[in-house]
Amino acid sequence: MSFEIEYEPQKCISCNKNILYFESSVYFPCPSCGEVIIWRCEKCRRFAREYTCPNCGFKGP
Ligand SMILES: [Zn+2]
Ligand SMILES: [Zn+2]
Repeated sequence: MSFEIEYEPQKCISCNKNILYFESSVYFPCPSCGEVIIWRCEKCRRFAREYTCPNCGFKGP
């Protein structure tokens, strides 16, 4: 984990696809540990795909 990730293209936590800036993607801190920013692409958000926090293993809808 490093903060350099802020300068790289963000990847969707569910499908691992690069998120394009014009997508209506969402990002939020992990609801469990709050240490990881969870990025989700438009599709995964719409279909409510499961994600797993890489830091604490929290699974969410
Ligand atoms: Zn996705
Ligand atoms: Zn977490």
